[in-house]
Amino acid sequence: MSIFREKLSFYRVYVEDPSRVRLRGMATVRSNIMAVNTLAELLKTTLGPRGMDKIVVETSGEWFITNDGTTILRNIDVRHPAAQLLVKAAEAQDGEVGDGTTSVVILAAELLNRADRLLQLKLHPNIIIKGYKHALDIALKRMRELAKPASLDNLEILKKICETSLSNKTLGFAKKHMIKIAVDAFLHIIEQREGKIYVDKENILVVKKPGKSLRESLLVEGLILDKGVAHPLMPKRINDAKIALISSPLKIEKAWYQKTEIVVKSMTDIKQILDEENRFLRENIVEKLLKIGANVVLCGDAICEGVQYLLAKAKIMAVKRVGISDLWRLTKATGGKLVASLKELTEADLGKAQLVEEVKIGPDKLLFIKGCPRAKSVSILLRAGSRRQLDEAERAFNDAIMNLITLTDEMKYVPGGGAIEMALASIIRREVSNYQGKEQMAIMAFADSLEAIPRILAENSGLDSVKILMKLRSLHEKGEHHYGVEAISKRIMDMFKAGIIEPLKLKEQILKSAFEIVSTLLRIDEIFTGLEFFEELPKPEEKDVPPASESKKK
Ligand code: ADP
Ligand code: MG
Repeated sequence: MSIFREKLSFYRVYVEDPSRVRLRGMATVRSNIMAVNTLAELLKTTLGPRGMDKIVVETSGEWFITNDGTTILRNIDVRHPAAQLLVKAAEAQDGEVGDGTTSVVILAAELLNRADRLLQLKLHPNIIIKGYKHALDIALKRMRELAKPASLDNLEILKKICETSLSNKTLGFAKKHMIKIAVDAFLHIIEQREGKIYVDKENILVVKKPGKSLRESLLVEGLILDKGVAHPLMPKRINDAKIALISSPLKIEKAWYQKTEIVVKSMTDIKQILDEENRFLRENIVEKLLKIGANVVLCGDAICEGVQYLLAKAKIMAVKRVGISDLWRLTKATGGKLVASLKELTEADLGKAQLVEEVKIGPDKLLFIKGCPRAKSVSILLRAGSRRQLDEAERAFNDAIMNLITLTDEMKYVPGGGAIEMALASIIRREVSNYQGKEQMAIMAFADSLEAIPRILAENSGLDSVKILMKLRSLHEKGEHHYGVEAISKRIMDMFKAGIIEPLKLKEQILKSAFEIVSTLLRIDEIFTGLEFFEELPKPEEKDVPPASESKKK
């Protein structure tokens, strides 16, 4: 299916013209539900490993293929306030746990549709929200009990979690390789202190280089700069590097020319100026660096040709115009200090690395900085035939890493493939009798809504979703809570045995995000623009207004 931005009128869900229309009561709720449904309809075919992809054509004419929920939502021109709220909720979900956006949208739409039916039965929105909250609480409590503990030593579990998150990504034969890179990168950046696990995703740097295939992607223990050395005569490999990190340019300042008064009368005078320049550069830049023992210079600005040549002669490696964010990352990793000018640089400011090396990748040159003492930084060099493939690979890699990081929040995992949703639905139905009154109807509606995930997973695999749901229901009623639908082999299976597992925290966040957006939308009973609201206020009758002259007299 393709989405052409220009032809998105169907997806441009707005309340007629939102600047003029005023909606009240049920009409508001209906309009909000319709907006959310439209987005859910669009996303639901992408859910799971058998989900379809979308081609997104941007206004610039550029296009790309994806089935990433957040990426699709970001590229839709959404006008309706409710739809915009949903997009924001999905983005928040992505920021929080990096995955599960499609599930949030599908669940939110399902909960709203069922709420709509309850509203028609004259249930007040507050009762529905209360019922949904009770059901959410049961789900969160029971899910924790159903979850299994994971550990960092169990590599199989870590790999399976990555594999489940990458199940719908088009990585072809490179999937195993990508999973290995993701797990290795993750294990490299984690830190354990006082029994707690700390991870900083900033310590993983992804560098994308078109060319070759995804299987040629590699993990470098250290940092990669997308730059080569400044001068061809400079050394390409330095062991035991002492690195100067400087943000200002390495060249003669204008003030020097103003101070040095030389009158040019002949060619020999020009040579004298050049000699003078060289002497200044050697004494103030190169000798200074040699004196404090620097053998690598990473500069955030330009390095003039004269300095490049002199540095090359002194066997100092230099790289010019390094991005400021890279320089900051380098300070963290090498333990060096970023200085504004060379004058301030001291030996204590130098960063350290076991090896700094220029590597040629196709026509490009990259700088590998390995064996940094401080941060546990790693870099992933992604390779693929085209930019588009690289972008999708980066999104996939991000999903895998984020799933592992989410796991460290709480080392527990639950069965995927709709198993946990079926389990929670059956448990909630069983516990509904503990509650009284109309809320029970909302609690049941929550349970029914959860079944949307296995239903859509089955539909997307071309299976008869009614049959699958019936079979799953009877299994879960017997307490077989690990059973879900395996979308590749199209069979009902024990998801733990099939290795389709997801972090507990991810599933918790999906339920919480869907509930948040649904309760926000159900509480809204009016949409109006400020201007039009005041226009509608009753205007004072003419006779009530005292004549201007009278009021003045008073
Ligand atoms: P989301 O944006 O919600 O993460 P995905 O398209 O990534 O959407 O699909 C995630 C869903 O796919 C999860 O419910 C997960 O359990 C399920 N899933 C992953 N792999 C399989 C599989 N092999 N069989 C069935 N379901 C799977
Ligand atoms: Mg996903």
